[in-house]
Amino acid sequence: MKFYLPFWWPDGINTHFDPFLETVPHKEKVRIWNIYNPPPLDGILVSRVNVESKPPENDDIHTALDFKGSIMGDCGAFSYIDEAEPPYDPIDTLEFYEKYGFDIGVTVDHLIVPKYDNEKEYRQELTIKNAKKMFDVWKNKETKLKLLGVVQGWNANSYATAALELAEYGFDYIALGGLVREPTENIKKILEMVHAILQTNSQEKGVQTKIHLFGIARESLFATMKHTGIHSFDSAGSLRNAWLSAKKNYYLDNVPYCAIRIPRPKDLRGKKKKFVEEHEISKDLLVKLEKKALANIRAFQKQEITLDEVLTALKEYTSVFTPPKQTDQIINEYQRTLNARPWELCDCSLCKKIGIDIIFFRMHERNMRRGFHNVYDFYNHFKKWEQNYLPSKKNEKENQQLKLV
Ligand SMILES: [Zn+2]
Repeated sequence: MKFYLPFWWPDGINTHFDPFLETVPHKEKVRIWNIYNPPPLDGILVSRVNVESKPPENDDIHTALDFKGSIMGDCGAFSYIDEAEPPYDPIDTLEFYEKYGFDIGVTVDHLIVPKYDNEKEYRQELTIKNAKKMFDVWKNKETKLKLLGVVQGWNANSYATAALELAEYGFDYIALGGLVREPTENIKKILEMVHAILQTNSQEKGVQTKIHLFGIARESLFATMKHTGIHSFDSAGSLRNAWLSAKKNYYLDNVPYCAIRIPRPKDLRGKKKKFVEEHEISKDLLVKLEKKALANIRAFQKQEITLDEVLTALKEYTSVFTPPKQTDQIINEYQRTLNARPWELCDCSLCKKIGIDIIFFRMHERNMRRGFHNVYDFYNHFKKWEQNYLPSKKNEKENQQLKLV
């Protein structure tokens, strides 16, 4: 199975960042595929909205991103989920993919979500209609672009029927969308049913239909994905959890750890900022406790002080911008992270270079490095899983429980 990483323009780091001085000398942006060799991915997924918000100087997307591997383009359906219809014309989108030299172009789809339940049939039909429109023009072109037909649905049956409709129309690569928030058991049912119906169609026609799964990279689904013939999938979860998740920010062998939040006082926002203002915490005190927390955690890294000492300093700083109960909860998480010292066990070049700094939740440069590390960890974990996978049907149960050694 091939893993695609969704990509946004700000997803880069400056290799000259100094974690001690916290300086970023110039505007260099290095992407994850420039850091790790080989890159921990099989391709990237770039949205049209992303490209057009900041059009690259070079029209060729591979040159613009300095990436030679497979690049998939889509329209970023989440960005227009509340619109009556997608803001992109299907034929214009096809031209967009060709202009930038994408390898794979995703048809223009419209997500089906519970709040627009009364529109589900309309959104599914619109998605199918757009796919067929693009297919009609694409099939007569001489192009290296592969067309990936999207299917939207609301249960196993509706996904399977729509997938069959596109396969019968001629699509040999079909994507299942809108499953990101779906419970694992439901996704399993959908994959089984889509697989069964496409299998019958493939046998009749002698053409194997490939399937892409949008936005899903759950280990609990790997075995089902594998035996239902999923060809590719994408997920931004491991990257973005580095700074978006409340507790799961750093992964080692797919086990999550909470990052240590030592924000710069000037970066305090929202509830934290309000808490500071309400309790009339002075700027001097914030700076003093922040410096103490940083000094202590670095001393802990060098094993000069105990875990209790560093936790006390972290608690002192955290408690001036966090309510007491939440402070206790997060300090428990810090204790778990610091006890395990996972950053010392990772062999990736970013962890090796900045050490404990990779688990500080502080500034874009560290948070993005942690995200890159997470993708590296996910990809290696996934590849090891795949190597250990036992393909026969009778081993399905074992495969579902298959854990890495
Ligand atoms: Zn690492």
